[in-house]
Amino acid sequence: MKKVRLGKSGLLVSEVGFGGIPIIPLPHERAVEIVRHCHERGVTFFDTANMYGNSEKMIGAALETVRDTVVLATKTTRRDKAGAAKHIELSLQNLRTDHIDLYQFHHVSKSEEIEEILSPNGAMAAVQEAMQAGKIGHVGVTSHKIEAALEACRTGLFATLQFPFNFIETDALKELFGVARGLDMGIIAMKPLGGGLLQDAALCFKFLQQHPDVVPIPGISRKEEIDQILSFYENPQPLNESEQQQIETIRAELGQKFCHRCGYCQPCEQGVAITDVLMFRSSVRRLAPAVAVLFSKNAMATVEKCTQCGECVKRCPYDLAIPELLLEVKGIYDAVSR
Ligand code: SF4
Ligand code: SF4
Repeated sequence: MKKVRLGKSGLLVSEVGFGGIPIIPLPHERAVEIVRHCHERGVTFFDTANMYGNSEKMIGAALETVRDTVVLATKTTRRDKAGAAKHIELSLQNLRTDHIDLYQFHHVSKSEEIEEILSPNGAMAAVQEAMQAGKIGHVGVTSHKIEAALEACRTGLFATLQFPFNFIETDALKELFGVARGLDMGIIAMKPLGGGLLQDAALCFKFLQQHPDVVPIPGISRKEEIDQILSFYENPQPLNESEQQQIETIRAELGQKFCHRCGYCQPCEQGVAITDVLMFRSSVRRLAPAVAVLFSKNAMATVEKCTQCGECVKRCPYDLAIPELLLEVKGIYDAVSR
């Protein structure tokens, strides 16, 4: 498989990586087999996170004997030095390695988080100490929010950016990817299949191939999934006119319902966890239903607080009919949890 340079980190990774969420509910041995299969097929970039259940442990077990041939990336949601230091040690242990190639600050959403990370007792201090000790190679950032991602990139402190990117989530093309490229950052595309909402993998990956410096990390839970994805890379074909039209049609259909997780609608004065509720639509496709239900349980309990005031709708840049969508998604949740 072709290799892509992840910006100034200098890391060379396979043009398709591995996203570590969907293996979470799998039995350990099956997950290990899938990870090994991906590696045998040429995938050399594996991304996981401290908060992805046993994902780090499964990836560590699968790749221990081929450690020198892969690039391992993981993440912490901690913003404080002590918390991040603890997560780094835990990840090293879980991944069965003495160094993590890329360590990322997970899901950075606000200026305040960046300030906290970079403060004297912030998580960056722990990462820098770990880098000096040879336990971490490079530091990156992941986000779902354009403003926060832009601010993080502009600090110049991160070698990579991980952001949602697929043919219905293209906000990053407006400014963010340009800024990241200008700073020679590696770009990693999370949710290349729209977090499970986009069914046509060929369309998704043909779209992504138009951006060859962006490395997608599809979540893989079956060997056939990576085999299919790699077939699009073995014989890459540009999008033809009819496929372009299909993309436009899907964009128009999903555009009315697709939450981009930008968070502008929040906070809701009634405490409705809007984004977390709406995310269920994709998480239930991506994860085992029981796991998706478990993840969303607390958020779903907030739906009944919605007074239909409409304040969130005014703030949503995508004009989503949020109160109706909340009820629709809650209906899906109720049906799945029965
Ligand atoms: S419509 Fe519902 S979810 Fe939106 S701000 Fe009002 S109470 Fe909150
Ligand atoms: S509902 Fe709208 S404003 Fe809220 S996170 Fe989704 S896309 Fe953004």
